[in-house]
Amino acid sequence: MNNYTPRGFDVLHNPKLNKGTAFTQQERDELGLQGLLPAAITSQQTQISRVLDNLHRKTSDIERYIFLFSLQGRNERLFYRLLIDHIDELMPIIYTPTVGEACQEFAHIFREPRGFYITPNDRGRIRESLNNWPEKDIRMIVITDGQRILGLGDLGANGMGIPIGKLSLYTAGAGIAPEQCLPVMLDVGSNNQQLINDPLYLGLKQPRISGDEYLQLVDEFVTTVQDVFPKAVIQFEDFLTPNAYLLLNTYRNKACCFNDDIQGTAAVVLSGIYTALTLSKQPFKDCRILFLGAGSAATGMADLLVPALCSAGLNEDEARKRLWFIDRHGLVVKDRDYLDPHNLAYAHEHPTMDFLSAIDDIKPNILIGATGVQGTFTETPIRRMAEINSRPIIFALSNPTSHAECTAKQAYEWTDGRAIFASGSPSSAVHYRGQFFKPGQGNNAYIFPGLGLGVITCQARYISDEMFLAAAQALSEQVSHKQLEQGNIYPPLNQLRKVSFKIAMAVAQTAYQQKLTPEACPDNLSARIKELIYDPTY
Ligand code: NAD
Repeated sequence: MNNYTPRGFDVLHNPKLNKGTAFTQQERDELGLQGLLPAAITSQQTQISRVLDNLHRKTSDIERYIFLFSLQGRNERLFYRLLIDHIDELMPIIYTPTVGEACQEFAHIFREPRGFYITPNDRGRIRESLNNWPEKDIRMIVITDGQRILGLGDLGANGMGIPIGKLSLYTAGAGIAPEQCLPVMLDVGSNNQQLINDPLYLGLKQPRISGDEYLQLVDEFVTTVQDVFPKAVIQFEDFLTPNAYLLLNTYRNKACCFNDDIQGTAAVVLSGIYTALTLSKQPFKDCRILFLGAGSAATGMADLLVPALCSAGLNEDEARKRLWFIDRHGLVVKDRDYLDPHNLAYAHEHPTMDFLSAIDDIKPNILIGATGVQGTFTETPIRRMAEINSRPIIFALSNPTSHAECTAKQAYEWTDGRAIFASGSPSSAVHYRGQFFKPGQGNNAYIFPGLGLGVITCQARYISDEMFLAAAQALSEQVSHKQLEQGNIYPPLNQLRKVSFKIAMAVAQTAYQQKLTPEACPDNLSARIKELIYDPTY
């Protein structure tokens, strides 16, 4: 038994215990802090004002990023209180777009280790390493192998910024306790020579392992986690598209896991579609959807749209026929020379054609851009969408803003203000012919924190499509009339904790109904969820 009670500097240097100048006089006396702190006893809110003042003095977002994560390393509760209260302002620093720059700079801005690293040298002893982790009740794991970090490609071990950032959003956005979160870097090497040549690079300096060697390492990790942390949900993040699909298809019914790039994106977009259709007053089952881009994001959306359309009354074949894709090589159709395996299910018997001809031919009601290429929604196709539809639904989802298929302003101008628009990154408000638009952002952060909280609560064996459908529906139901009037199909980010709670309820209820849980749904489900929610206030 360890009877050690931290005192003095050990308290001030422990981010979980430290309250800095907020320690009361009684605590200062009891914990041996007298003399170690300035005289003033300040509230957490005063501390937040000071932190914000300091944050605003920084001259770049990457400096703000370093400052915020240093705060997390000093005073965890202050970090989370700040993040919860100022989520709109701080999410773009903690997560996209600044986290991309932070990953690129990871080895250069590194201060202290955070998270858990696995390399091929750990084969056969991942259990031993996991036992080194100080926390024993892990509930949420985000793992990446760094091969496709945002739109930035192979960043190797530098990709650790992503699991760290994402888990801080699980805590801020849904209340999953920080000690229950585990960021994991599966460092299997990097094929980015520039990175390997950097003398400060912190990862394994070798080419990536692949094939069976790679899959066996992942498998050892997943099976060991199921044993060591049996209540943990595993989120796969920023894997290269073929690996992302392979891992998801291998583990989706065997482990409690999901891929946010594929399934989280899909749920947030489906929610946007449900909400947009309340404005365009079209029945969901009658919609035709055209995707520009056929990568993991777009096909992930389609893979969830199929069960969603089926639950609206179509059979699977009819549902697939509502969904069309265009990639770099044109319309995805059956007799094309090259088709990615994940596109096969959506390759229809149809002549191939270019983007504009496809709009004329298919007459989509919804156009979704996930190309990663700026400006691919040009004026002519968007005007054509407005000729076909009284309220064309146009989502330009590529991130960051500089990669978006079109801007909100263009979408409104080219459709005479009739577009129902959403983007992947935040868009500025638009004034157009006396109308005021504040378009919404299809941010995955609306879904994954609440989904994680729901799954943790009910202890589902795995995460079903129906649980994602429930999450999408629950999110859509939280958009107010005022937001809809401004063309915003998502709730405000500052409501994220409330939104996540409702999503957690819907997800858990669905898992209970599907009997994916060890126990039946408790009468007090809402109280059960509330009990799990971390409150950083002191
Ligand atoms: P990916 O590289 O797997 O796929 C890109 C696809 O776009 C490929 O099919 C490619 O052939 C196609 N493409 C590229 N240029 C094209 C062009 N000019 N015309 C037609 N097709 C073209 O990438 P991904 O993971 O699917 O991500 C795509 C984009 O989606 C990224 O920019 C990412 O930021 C964005 N995304 C947004 C969200 C969100 O908003 N919630 C979530 C995930 C991904």
